[in-house]
Amino acid sequence: MEELKYQVDLLNAMNRKLIRDEKMLRLICETSSSAFLYYNYEEDRVQTIANWDHFFSFAITNIKDLKKLYDCVEEKDIIPLREVFFIEKQGMKSQTIEVKLKEKRICIEVEVNIVYDSMSNPTDKIIRFKDVTKFNAQNDELTYMAYYDLLTGLYNRNYFVRLLGEFVRRAQEEKETVAVMFLDLDDFRRINDGMGIIVGDELVQQVGQFLFDLMNDNIHIAHFNSDIYCIAVYNPCGARSVETIYRTIKERLKKPFVLTSGQEIYVTASVGVAEYPEAALTTLDLINCAEIVMFKAKSLGKDKIQYFDGAILDEFLKNVNIENKLKEAVFSQNFTMYFQPQFKTADKALRGVEALIRWKDDHGKMISPSVFIPIAEKNGAIIPIGTWVIEESLKAYAEWKRKYHYPMIISLNISAIQYKQPDFIDKVLHILKKYDVSPYEIELEITESILIDDFDEITEKIVMLRNMGIKISLDDFGTGYSSLSYLKGLPIDTLKIDKSFIDTVITDENTKIITESIIYMVKKLGFETIAEGVETEEQFRYLNEISCDIIQGFYLGKPMPSEGIETLLANMDL
Ligand code: C2E
Ligand code: CA
Ligand code: CA
Repeated sequence: MEELKYQVDLLNAMNRKLIRDEKMLRLICETSSSAFLYYNYEEDRVQTIANWDHFFSFAITNIKDLKKLYDCVEEKDIIPLREVFFIEKQGMKSQTIEVKLKEKRICIEVEVNIVYDSMSNPTDKIIRFKDVTKFNAQNDELTYMAYYDLLTGLYNRNYFVRLLGEFVRRAQEEKETVAVMFLDLDDFRRINDGMGIIVGDELVQQVGQFLFDLMNDNIHIAHFNSDIYCIAVYNPCGARSVETIYRTIKERLKKPFVLTSGQEIYVTASVGVAEYPEAALTTLDLINCAEIVMFKAKSLGKDKIQYFDGAILDEFLKNVNIENKLKEAVFSQNFTMYFQPQFKTADKALRGVEALIRWKDDHGKMISPSVFIPIAEKNGAIIPIGTWVIEESLKAYAEWKRKYHYPMIISLNISAIQYKQPDFIDKVLHILKKYDVSPYEIELEITESILIDDFDEITEKIVMLRNMGIKISLDDFGTGYSSLSYLKGLPIDTLKIDKSFIDTVITDENTKIITESIIYMVKKLGFETIAEGVETEEQFRYLNEISCDIIQGFYLGKPMPSEGIETLLANMDL
């Protein structure tokens, strides 16, 4: 009796545990959002578990009922499904496939597991059905993002590089060419800054949509970022020649882009072209070369196409080299100041000097300011360099003044970026004070193009500087806009006639007439005139005849170090 009670208790306990276990398993199955089908070989018994209704509207009571599933899936999935259901025929333990349910339009993962006994006979089969539609959609989105640019629908940079790589490989085999067109919208920053990034984005998108239509098996187009697009053309010729594609783009850009707000925007583009194998052999080099020549197109006035040319690349590499060295030079200050004397034409008395920077790189090689100043202006190095120039020049000037007491003027070349610095005037005044130099003793040079490009902003500062007694001189006159009539309103004291005029003033009748009228006009306006680059006695004599006030040039004095000016001052008759 005792024994029996013990057995009953044990059975009850086991039963409770079984119920608990089954409840737990059911919970796990149900919350897994999968459906299960269990088959026991010995009993030939089928049981569906958990979320069966989510997937199928019929029951399965017999292993042969699995056939019913074939009707639910897409045609292409029937055979794989049949095979996966009976993998024990191949002695396999498990396999997973993905099928699509026709009516429900969902993707399901079907995983089959077979349990074998020690004699390798199958004992149990478990089939799990899992809904992977959402997962696949997320995956699709990720795949899309891996290949395409979301804003324009064009390829993204990474994928474009891969596609271009395929073009290049094919071209290598077939002995063909591949063109890369690097396209950058002109003045895009102005649109973005002026009208807002929403307008900018919409424009980028619309240009992208237009470019999208140009794509085919032999033309891939990507949106790199901002306003930059890149086009790869396999074997460019005929309808897909670079010229034709460019013409199509240019035609489209002649018309405005109409934004959703109704706003109409006109835009132009600069395009650089590099071809495999002429310009470069690798994809990245091709893109780089195309980008470099695109910059050339920009510097030539935008709205242009520029084809690759070795000289452009050389110039670019030279500039990069200079830019890198320039960064070091700003710290190590491998600069020196030279001074070129300016003489009064009438009596050859010293009127003053123009301060000109010199740069010797680490190998002692002299680099011309005409080369490195534009680079320093682009990368911002002009600010510390410019301050150093003012400081060094005034330091030298103060020394001459202390030693020789000769009344003269020192001219400083100032770049537009310096003028635009909010503290520019304070900086100048501070250095003047530091070296005890009066504002009346200095002259700041400014080029014509700067004055015109940023007229309002710079004119305002110039007027303030002049009110303090500082002279302003207009440099390189004749190289830019050269309209005599606009001179009238300019707040300047001195006008420097560019060397290119002086070069031909003796030989060319037209130059003669122009130079004479400039001097006549300028005198009437009350400015002084300086002729730059005077190299011969003949030029000097002629300039004297037409009453040009001041002469600067190799004929009377080359740029020289401070000591040279001291020698000059020491020998001056006072
Ligand atoms: P720039 O202001 O027009 O300076 C005159 C240039 O003509 C100087 O070249 C000078 O050496 C040269 N030159 C003067 N007389 C003659 C001549 O008779 N024959 C010939 N062939 N050349 C003559 P440099 O010193 O190479 O300067 C070139 C340009 O670099 C300057 O043109 C100026 O735009 C810029 N630059 C020079 N120093 C500075 C500076 O400190 N700051 C800034 N922002 N620019 C500077
Ligand atoms: Ca100058
Ligand atoms: Ca000049």
